[in-house]
Amino acid sequence: MVISEIFHSIQGEGPTAGRPAVFVRLGMCNLQCNFCDTPYTWQEGKEDYSDEANERVVEAIVKLLQEHPRTQMIVWTGGEPMMQQRDIVAAIDYIDASFGERTLEHEIETNGTIGASSELDARIDRYNCSPKTAMSGNDPYTVRLKDFSKTIYKYVVENPKHCTEALQEIDRQKLPRDRCFFMVLGTTAQEMLERSPAIAEVCKREGITLCIRLQSILWGAKRGV
Ligand code: SF4
Repeated sequence: MVISEIFHSIQGEGPTAGRPAVFVRLGMCNLQCNFCDTPYTWQEGKEDYSDEANERVVEAIVKLLQEHPRTQMIVWTGGEPMMQQRDIVAAIDYIDASFGERTLEHEIETNGTIGASSELDARIDRYNCSPKTAMSGNDPYTVRLKDFSKTIYKYVVENPKHCTEALQEIDRQKLPRDRCFFMVLGTTAQEMLERSPAIAEVCKREGITLCIRLQSILWGAKRGV
């Protein structure tokens, strides 16, 4: 399993924003967005634990869950975690078995380019899918995750022009607007404050949920928090 970092924090984005979680940030990504806030996951040396049966990874996750007994959520993020589905399935089974009766939820943050295997899907409670539009520097694509009972769609936007682009994609892909979020682009509290009001106006008009990244307000661009 290629891992970038494992840490305990607060989910800052999407429908579970504000909840404590253990984050497992996987390395590698199949896109290269020009605004990527975790480029180190696909640019830096990739530490591969695969030969050690991912043991060190799951042990680190288990340790954090033991240190934080009230935390219920594990967020599998990246990079693009869907590139390592088999490893995630094995890790989830190990983690869930380690905690018996304790309720654990598994959330995946993904760009939506890769569908979920039935094995992974059976173990995942939520997909936070962040489809990329042309403003990311990637060609628009059709998302592969369309289970509306489990998936929300989080579009990164900096200004109303980006919102228009995202709305076109939402309609083209027939995504339900009540499951769509506009997440304000930025890594600092200042950027969140400056950019959010104009995007909030679009959200009010178009029935989209506004998402202001809590981690940017709380910790800026700092890693592993
Ligand atoms: S999909 Fe996500 S991790 Fe990959 S380059 Fe884009 S923003 Fe970065």
